[in-house]
Amino acid sequence: MSSVSSLFPETGGYVVAKFGGTSVANFDAMNSSADIVLANKEVRIVVLSASAGMTNLLIALAEGCDADKRADYLKQIQTIQDAIADRLHISDVIRQEINRLLENIKTLSETASLTTSDVLTDEIVSHGELMSTLLFTELLRQRGTDAEWFDIRKIMRTDDHFGRAEPNNTQLRILATEHLLPHLKNTLIVTQGFIGREEKGCTTTLGRGGSDYTAALLGEALNLKRVDIWTDVPGIYTTDPRVVPAAQRIDKIAFDEAAEMATFGAKVLHPATLFPAIRCGIPVFVGSSKNPQAGGTLVCDTTEAPPRFRAITLRRQQTLLTLHSLKMLHAQGFLVEIFTILSRHNISVDLITTSEVNVALTLDTTGSTSTNGSLLTNALMTELSTLCRVDVEEDLALVAIIGNQLSQTSGLGKQVFSALERFNLRMISHGASNHNLCLLVQGNDAEQIVQTLHQCLFE
Ligand code: ASP
Ligand code: MG
Repeated sequence: MSSVSSLFPETGGYVVAKFGGTSVANFDAMNSSADIVLANKEVRIVVLSASAGMTNLLIALAEGCDADKRADYLKQIQTIQDAIADRLHISDVIRQEINRLLENIKTLSETASLTTSDVLTDEIVSHGELMSTLLFTELLRQRGTDAEWFDIRKIMRTDDHFGRAEPNNTQLRILATEHLLPHLKNTLIVTQGFIGREEKGCTTTLGRGGSDYTAALLGEALNLKRVDIWTDVPGIYTTDPRVVPAAQRIDKIAFDEAAEMATFGAKVLHPATLFPAIRCGIPVFVGSSKNPQAGGTLVCDTTEAPPRFRAITLRRQQTLLTLHSLKMLHAQGFLVEIFTILSRHNISVDLITTSEVNVALTLDTTGSTSTNGSLLTNALMTELSTLCRVDVEEDLALVAIIGNQLSQTSGLGKQVFSALERFNLRMISHGASNHNLCLLVQGNDAEQIVQTLHQCLFE
């Protein structure tokens, strides 16, 4: 750590603040977000999502649609922009730039109606962040700050996995030091979350909700003091308050617990967000831009007296694949073959259980790529079925109990399973991590299971 900070002594006190879609949804939301930025002199980089609803509209256009639908979506996009721009009284230069981007969207979506592609989708989708950042820069300027718009694609180099690209951290560090760092002393930088650029120059995206990840990556690349994630909920809760109204806010949580929560479905943070923060020990704060006074959650290295049970998360739309083959009996190498196929199809496996001739594994099918593609393609199923019989069960849900020392606690099983006596637990995964116990359950039972568990473990 000390070697990294000595490289960037001047950034040690800076904060990157990220505002999500609802925090830049309209003029009033943008103004509240600007209040937060202006209230803290340490905030030198602002990372934004597209205005709420924008990315969905852009994806709909990118998927190709008929002329009527297209006109309707374009109109909705224009309406969101105009509503902000009109109240801002934006300068002619910015107005022209926004119009140019709107014109681009129109042309690109006409192309998409003829033929769709992941490359085109990412290009179209990136316009949401380009527009929100232009408007927000203008707003900050009107409020008397020396803010500068910065195209993150100059520094966010990624691979070419469109829809869910992986950033190149080494390049990001070098380019951010060269192109971003020199500006931070005198200006406030406003830039896009979620988007990047691959080697050939095409725009890429980091997966739905990827702006959090961008902010954390910048925090790491420039060794900043903190990453602030401003969203529409005042922090991370013991479970989703929409499912359990009695859920409690967690004031302080350790990186590894929060990372488990994000991975297993807590929607507050993009699952990859915490990895850069963990790698370099930068604390992450999560709060609500509508209600900053309410405080939030600080995710950091360690907390005092970590509790046995920290949270319950829920991830819907899980698919279970059960692979059956007699070849597995006393054989070696079967799993290698299966996992090679899955990896060739870009599928990451979540949970896995095995018996003598069966392997069961779960896949996360929540639309986490920006291109909305289905994971279980015909090509994949055909390849798998040359090796084994494949059964697919859909509409399952993953309930994860997150906590500490879970695999070293006696009586844990009894506590959990007796509370859930009346439910069918399709698969159980426990023991790989000290921080979680995962249950795969029927989608219809999921909310009740979360409620029951929350009541028994937290209330
Ligand atoms: N605008 C993108 C999305 O809706 C990225 C983000 O919100 O972080 O997924
Ligand atoms: Mg978002």
